[in-house]
Amino acid sequence: MSKSCESVPKVFGSNVFNDIVMRERLPKDVYKSLKKSLERNETLDPSIANVIANAMKDWAIEKGATHYCHWFQPMTGSTAEKHDSFISPTSQGTTIMEFSGKELYQGEPDASSFPSGGLRATFEARGYTAWDCTSPVFIKEDGDNITLYIPSAFCSYVGHALDKKTPLLRSMDALNTHAMRVIRALGNTTSKRITATLGPEQEYFLVDKTFYDKRLDLILAGRTLFGAMSPRGQEMEDHYFGALHERVASFMHELNLELWKLGVSAKTQHNEVSPAQYELAPVFGTVNVATDHNHLVMETLRKVALRHNFVCLLHEKPFTGVNGSGKHNNWSMVTDDGINLLDPGSTPHENMIFLVILCAVIKAVDKYSEILRASVANSGNDHRLGANEAPPAIVSIFLGDQLSDIFNQLAAGGAKSSKKGEELKLGVSTLPPLPKDYTDRNRTSPFAFTGNKFEFRMVGSSQSTAGPMFVLNTIVTDVLCEIADELEKAENVKAKVQSILKKIANEHKKIIYNGDNYTEDWVKEAEKRGLPNIRSTVASLETIMKKQNVALFKKYGVLTEEELGARTDILIKSYNMSINIEAMTMLCIAKRQILPACIKYSSVIAGSVSSISSAGVDAGSQKEILENLCSLITTLKENIAKLENTVDEGKKISDAIKIGRFSRDNIVPAMKALRKTADELETVTDAQLWPLPTYADMLFVR
Ligand code: ADP
Ligand code: MG
Repeated sequence: MSKSCESVPKVFGSNVFNDIVMRERLPKDVYKSLKKSLERNETLDPSIANVIANAMKDWAIEKGATHYCHWFQPMTGSTAEKHDSFISPTSQGTTIMEFSGKELYQGEPDASSFPSGGLRATFEARGYTAWDCTSPVFIKEDGDNITLYIPSAFCSYVGHALDKKTPLLRSMDALNTHAMRVIRALGNTTSKRITATLGPEQEYFLVDKTFYDKRLDLILAGRTLFGAMSPRGQEMEDHYFGALHERVASFMHELNLELWKLGVSAKTQHNEVSPAQYELAPVFGTVNVATDHNHLVMETLRKVALRHNFVCLLHEKPFTGVNGSGKHNNWSMVTDDGINLLDPGSTPHENMIFLVILCAVIKAVDKYSEILRASVANSGNDHRLGANEAPPAIVSIFLGDQLSDIFNQLAAGGAKSSKKGEELKLGVSTLPPLPKDYTDRNRTSPFAFTGNKFEFRMVGSSQSTAGPMFVLNTIVTDVLCEIADELEKAENVKAKVQSILKKIANEHKKIIYNGDNYTEDWVKEAEKRGLPNIRSTVASLETIMKKQNVALFKKYGVLTEEELGARTDILIKSYNMSINIEAMTMLCIAKRQILPACIKYSSVIAGSVSSISSAGVDAGSQKEILENLCSLITTLKENIAKLENTVDEGKKISDAIKIGRFSRDNIVPAMKALRKTADELETVTDAQLWPLPTYADMLFVR
């Protein structure tokens, strides 16, 4: 592998059918027609499909590809693909390589085993994939197998969305329509399109594969279900931004090269707070492509880790007692002529478009905080949100000093000044003074304004960014639509803007919180303000089908009531299955590994008690140790039985939401009790006999 920096520009995008390749390989008129449709967001002219498909095939074959696939995002949250080769046998017993426009545009993968939430019975085998031409086609190398990947949407025979991409694309369209109305009403005449942008920071853990292979919980559930805390955790705060370990740095180097080939703009990498935890951030892009790229990031992380004998853990909470992993979604809106609508400029109080967009986001997040919270609900995130860890389950917005000041001025009737950023003097004559940022950072906020974008920090590390992003796009669209309705009717737009902003600033200031979100004080304060604090996935999912949400998604054509219902059903069932897998895995490990090890150790001590006593020496200490051990073994056995019975009881329930509540209220506590005893046993059992690699092994051994 090349280590030269010069080769990076050559490597970057080398496996992407990008604009340069298209210009080179497509006839001029076809290229122009394709570009025009992309720029205007129009449907492609089907008559050029064959030409494009053929050019793609030739390009792919030159790169060694034998197959193509429609690559889509079913509601499992991951990606799916079914490969077809280009071969087309001839009557002479030979073959030619073919790829038609129809095959590019549409696939019919059957794919009846994906969750559809009842939208599609298995006997209705037809499910369709359709090329999403706004996300570039690329080539992926998996071992010797090289395949042309066509990013696609996935829908049922009758047109129901069965994937995460379709609602995201629909929400982008809706946002474009209504954000354009707003900026037009505010006097913008140059922009033609508005796109939502996303830069997802991805956190992950790396664990040595030798340890991973010995942990059934990591293999089956993606997180440790047992494990006493290591004597050292993250308290020294020395891992965060620490020097990269060589083995990890080599992994990151190869990871970057693989991502760059795919056109993924991997940019930032660093050690995170917990030992063995890391982060990768790309340069932001349109929310659709950034979502596709984040899927590639997650897949490539896993793949490249294995080449370095690591396993990459993307679970939200692989280890108890140290930080979990999130995916900070940096989000904004940009016009086709390059205006970032959330860029305050140097005098934000005069920047009318900025203020309107800012206030629209604030109102949307306050009004629809429950559905936003639900967009990040999964069993993994239950260990983060509302569980004494970043960020809390209460949705609130951090604005920072300068914008809060402006926001307060708006509430009083109009903003007349912007607090200026000062210079920071470092007190060392050789260091230059740094301009102080207008907004400080607040790492504890779930939804923070960070300079020229919002950062939604509740998203789980394993989640697709599509869900939270289509929700955010849609709720903001709704407020923008309301504002556009008012502005378009107004005789005096400026006065109207002022009254709209005043109203928003007064009615929604309760969502603004610049303090420390981790404190008990905030929990109490939020309750006083009437902000929801929804701590569990189940409670959160139970809010989705509220009238307000159903009407919202329907109004903007993002999801029908049926589609939203199906999704909710899938989410709740997925929660139930995750808990069930975790409980069954715990029982398996407890009964077949931990209990036998403890029994073995107890008989070793018992042997020592009798041989010491028969030698005429007092075995009092050994006896005490044995008694303590035996009593813990009894508790372990009881807790195993309790969890087993609880799981069995849960099987008698048939309604998904009731299973969910039962899992949360009965199975999860029974799992916790079992773990507590097992972890205690770990601390008193001979390390040689303990069957599982320890937290210290997994977090500290490189
Ligand atoms: P942090 O300091 O918050 O960890 P990082 O540099 O790790 O920041 O990540 C910030 C992310 O925000 C990057 O992915 C960056 O490309 C993205 N970003 C910057 N500007 C925008 C924008 N206008 N819209 C969306 N994302 C953006
Ligand atoms: Mg970061």
